[in-house]
Amino acid sequence: MERLDVLIVGGGPIGIACGLEAKKKGLRYLIVEKGPIVNSLFNYPINMQFFSSSERLEIDEIPFISKEAKPKRNEALEYYRRIVTSNQLRIHLFEKVEDVSKNEDGFTVRSDKGLYTADNVIIATGFYDLPNMLNVPGENLPKVSHYYKDPHFYASQKLAVIGASNSAIDAALECWRKGSEVTLIIRGPEVGQRVKYWVRPDIINRINEGSIQAYYNSNVKEIRETELIIETPEGIVHLENDFVLALTGYMPDFAFLEALGIQLSKDEKRLPNYDQDTMETNVPGLYLAGVICGGMETHKWFIENSRIHAKIIVSDILQKKAQETHS
Ligand SMILES: Cc1cc2nc3c(=O)[nH]c(=O)nc-3n(C[C@H](O)[C@H](O)[C@H](O)COP(=O)(O)OP(=O)(O)OC[C@H]3O[C@@H](n4cnc5c(N)ncnc54)[C@H](O)[C@@H]3O)c2cc1C
Repeated sequence: MERLDVLIVGGGPIGIACGLEAKKKGLRYLIVEKGPIVNSLFNYPINMQFFSSSERLEIDEIPFISKEAKPKRNEALEYYRRIVTSNQLRIHLFEKVEDVSKNEDGFTVRSDKGLYTADNVIIATGFYDLPNMLNVPGENLPKVSHYYKDPHFYASQKLAVIGASNSAIDAALECWRKGSEVTLIIRGPEVGQRVKYWVRPDIINRINEGSIQAYYNSNVKEIRETELIIETPEGIVHLENDFVLALTGYMPDFAFLEALGIQLSKDEKRLPNYDQDTMETNVPGLYLAGVICGGMETHKWFIENSRIHAKIIVSDILQKKAQETHS
């Protein structure tokens, strides 16, 4: 079995940044990704526009040219794909890592397609796979989705969008503009404060003029084939409905992290235990990179501020390797 210096779990922007840095520094590395290259971005809404300008999404200062200052999903796919192909990064796609176990001789990594041994492992698995569930009756009906892709699907339909953050607001506005009858259901008293500064006035104006209906301080109690039951401050509302987009955020796979021996904080943030100077977790040789570092605080890390993790981790691995050689 081939022995690696580092195996990277996840081929998102940050896993790719780690692979590129490992390659540049001459490490034996492999990225294992359960979907296509940058799987999370591939699954974003087709017309999605990043809030970051393109230079802030760059890896290793490789120029990211986009038509507008803030790139679209397709441009980001093009950019990260070209990084993988032009640099001939070693990446196994459509292969899911199922288990990482530590032994005296490093790590054994088991995927659904193979077995690997590595001195170090980087977990860069993001948070986009597990939606925050509403846990209400009817949530499993086929008309309910936790991922939004294309507004065309909802044209001329009664669409309820649950949530108040960027994903929900983008979906509500885009679907309304393509002819959906949109109702927003918001748990708190207002549209989220972190909604993009150029989008927030747009949604507030659409709500105020009555184009999009909004229920604040409200919760969906049940989803039925043709209606929703909503608890509002004015009482229970029965809302006619064809489709539901429950865009209430996503969370990291905590069970996966715990199974690897990574400690999580006991509070609701569930912050993983790692050294901020090296990104190494409480399990020696096991590192975290990218948005996974934020636990339930999924807004804390993004591409812009976590792309630096790649250099920090690879430099720590190299330092340890040098120490081993001299001891
Ligand atoms: C709608 C939206 C807009 C955003 N806009 C911006 C923005 O403008 N600027 C910005 O900086 N950030 C933005 N973000 C956040 C940004 O997309 C994420 O920060 C980024 O994807 C994080 O990269 P990552 O590599 O850490 O995780 P991800 O991109 O989520 O990559 C994790 C990868 O791990 C893979 N994986 C998971 N489990 C396994 C396993 N067991 N085995 C193998 N592979 C596995 C997944 O398939 C995935 O490809 C946005 C996010 C969303 C949802």
